[in-house]
Amino acid sequence: MEKIKMTTPLVEMDGDEMTRVLWRMIKEELIEPFIDLKTEYYDLGLVHRNETDDQVTVESAQATKKYGVAVKCATITPNAARVAEYGLKEMWKSPNGTIRAILDGTVFRAPIVVKGIEPYVRTWKKPITIARHAYGDVYKNTEMVIDGPGCAELVFTAADGSESREKIFEFQGPGVLQGMHNLNRSIESFARSCFNYALDVKQDLWFSSKDTISKKYDHTFKDIFQEIFDKEYCDKFKAAGITYFYTLIDDAVARVMRSEGGFIWACKNYDGDVMSDMISSAFGSLAMMTSVLVSPDGKYEYEAAHGTVQRHYYQYLKGEETSTNPVATIFAWTGALRKRGELDGIPELMAYADRMEQAVIRTIESGRMLKGLAQITSLDNVTVLNCSDFIRAVRAEYEK
Ligand code: NAP
Ligand code: MG
Repeated sequence: MEKIKMTTPLVEMDGDEMTRVLWRMIKEELIEPFIDLKTEYYDLGLVHRNETDDQVTVESAQATKKYGVAVKCATITPNAARVAEYGLKEMWKSPNGTIRAILDGTVFRAPIVVKGIEPYVRTWKKPITIARHAYGDVYKNTEMVIDGPGCAELVFTAADGSESREKIFEFQGPGVLQGMHNLNRSIESFARSCFNYALDVKQDLWFSSKDTISKKYDHTFKDIFQEIFDKEYCDKFKAAGITYFYTLIDDAVARVMRSEGGFIWACKNYDGDVMSDMISSAFGSLAMMTSVLVSPDGKYEYEAAHGTVQRHYYQYLKGEETSTNPVATIFAWTGALRKRGELDGIPELMAYADRMEQAVIRTIESGRMLKGLAQITSLDNVTVLNCSDFIRAVRAEYEK
């Protein structure tokens, strides 16, 4: 069979530990036999990030800006233990943080839904995608512990030196205090990323915040979303047959629980942090969550939502059998290849992505899966496979 040709390279960001091992296996078994793979390769493995003073991360993000589509392997975010383990020159920043800052993107996380791995919420039939705003609020706060009586005020000194003040509270005794901010520019990018993504996947978009209590802060988020929607997206949404609606976060939570799924839920930074963990555990498994970073000008970076699965990697190094689930990483590749096919007008590449994802789903639904899924599946007659056998089973299913 002739291999599918590509015209524009994918930006390939290699990574660390167990997911780096999976990366090679997936390419060799599931991609290169079928596609004349064109990538621009960036090694984001910690060793190479350290060698390049983390320049490779910046370059890979710039390449994503240039070409428009990237696929990323999970990477180590160094902490003190990693600095010692890898003899690092510095505690390099999180690659995802660096890439997100350069692309100014929003992260969309969605579960891969298969029969036999049932969500804990009975009504959920379709995936729920969480879009989390990744800038500001409590993540860039300033805090104070107040020891005794006194007056707390918000003070803004404008560029011309003029001051505006608001009293926060007259403390009679000890307490705590916090200041935080966000930027219209960042909220606008967030809104556009969400509207574009909703159009892309043709799903309704919900946005929620606490504007009844936070009448200026959260209300600004609500207003920016509405203004951009009315001006730029209303007609496009109508044409695509999808809707946008805003609701209070309490109401959103109640509706989500009663819904069938199949929509995107945009959340402020903290809400998205919390709700994405809730949604992914309720759907069953972190190993089945995909993640895509979308910039407001339509650049895409696909990855798995999980990390480098360190514990399994040390088992692998000892020569032990591993049960790392490659599904989310396979879907990162298929997501990126489908998008490349769509942008370059290569229907065969899009069809490949659909068929490969179907092959993965059929393999699991026929009862062949990794240990982690086998422990939670509702299917009978399950065959537990190790990682490489699972990948080979998917290949056989694809070739059928
Ligand atoms: P992790 O890699 O997500 O793994 C945590 C645990 O979840 C694993 O020990 C495993 O549980 C289970 N798990 C996750 N993915 C799995 C898969 N594909 N198949 C089977 N089980 C899976 O998180 P971590 O161990 O806390 O972090 C390891 C490294 O990853 C850290 O250095 C962190 O900085 C990095 N990280 C990177 C990203 C990213 O690049 N996007 C995201 C998160 C973390 P059991 O041990 O019970 O089998
Ligand atoms: Mg969290």
